[in-house]
Amino acid sequence: MSEILVLVDKAQDTVRNVTYEVLAAALKLKEKNGASISAVYIGDNAGSIESDLGKYGADKVYKIENPSLKDFNPSLYAHALSELVNKVNADIILGGNTLQNQDFLPRVASKTKGGLTTDAIDIDLTSSSTLQVKRYKYSGKSIATLSYHDVKPMIATIRLNAYKPVEAGAAGEAVSESIDIPADDNFKVIETNIIPKERPELTEADKIVSGGRGMANGENFKLCYDLADSVGAGAGASRAAVDSGWVPYEMQVGQTGKVVSPNLYIAVGISGSVQHYAGMGSSKVIVAINKDPDAPIFQKCDYGICGDLFDVLPALTDEIKKLG
Ligand SMILES: Cc1cc2nc3c(=O)[nH]c(=O)nc-3n(C[C@H](O)[C@H](O)[C@H](O)COP(=O)(O)OP(=O)(O)OC[C@H]3O[C@@H](n4cnc5c(N)ncnc54)[C@H](O)[C@@H]3O)c2cc1C
Repeated sequence: MSEILVLVDKAQDTVRNVTYEVLAAALKLKEKNGASISAVYIGDNAGSIESDLGKYGADKVYKIENPSLKDFNPSLYAHALSELVNKVNADIILGGNTLQNQDFLPRVASKTKGGLTTDAIDIDLTSSSTLQVKRYKYSGKSIATLSYHDVKPMIATIRLNAYKPVEAGAAGEAVSESIDIPADDNFKVIETNIIPKERPELTEADKIVSGGRGMANGENFKLCYDLADSVGAGAGASRAAVDSGWVPYEMQVGQTGKVVSPNLYIAVGISGSVQHYAGMGSSKVIVAINKDPDAPIFQKCDYGICGDLFDVLPALTDEIKKLG
């Protein structure tokens, strides 16, 4: 076994937590076969990231820096990573199951003749150092175990929050990699608009409060936002609420929305369809607030409050605020 490559996800000056989660997954593999773990930064300005990455398990940090990698460009990023993979003969590539990685890693698999699985909830190695990946199937009703056969590199994206970062105190030695980046006339970023976020991003949030059709209209979502803000949670929604135009699509959780995995998920006025569950079923603790005692969500939650959300939400928010 040569190296496990872990993709660095960096926003502005900060390495995002998902990178440390994926390093924790890589450490699990390293414990089995002693492989070295190398973090890979692709962009225009890595900065001094090696000590932080080393703290969470990276033995080495490859920095592929080039002005044309400033903005995400799927073909250039795929080129850069594929060149590195060929150069260091990497066996395994791991990254968070982010939209960016979902976009460019299939291209890397194609260029390197590797194999790719996405949205793993757990990974392991067989006795012959073959990567094994567990992922949900049938909208979270069952878990499939997949492995790779005679293919290299073995590439996988890991569901956010599936692993907790582990402090490992590795060396974190920085290695600058000069890889020629070709001109690309097919893809050009014209403008970048960063939408200011009032609440934590759903895919990274530790707690989420989501509202469904039971909220009855968009104004009533203020009750969800009040509860979310009282506990520092992100705000989500079911597709029914999004399709009704009450809240924007970026709040949708589920099969055709975001896949989230917080420690606490509070579902308010949401019935618990399989498509919604597909996006939040791996939450650690699920709380449901619903007035229908037969709502399917009560079969899937850890705690259920059977009552009218218009009574329960203000009372719950008030009690939480009293706790300070
Ligand atoms: C291909 C496909 C993809 C889909 N993708 C998604 C997806 O990504 N995400 C998603 O969410 N859905 C998705 N859906 C839709 C999904 O099937 C459901 O229609 C949707 O999840 C229902 O949303 P809901 O639970 O808010 O609404 P409903 O099922 O209508 O449930 C509303 C709930 O609110 C409760 N309620 C009403 N009033 C109150 C009150 N005053 N107090 C307390 N409780 C109250 C009701 O008892 C009910 O249980 C998808 C469907 C398909 C076919």
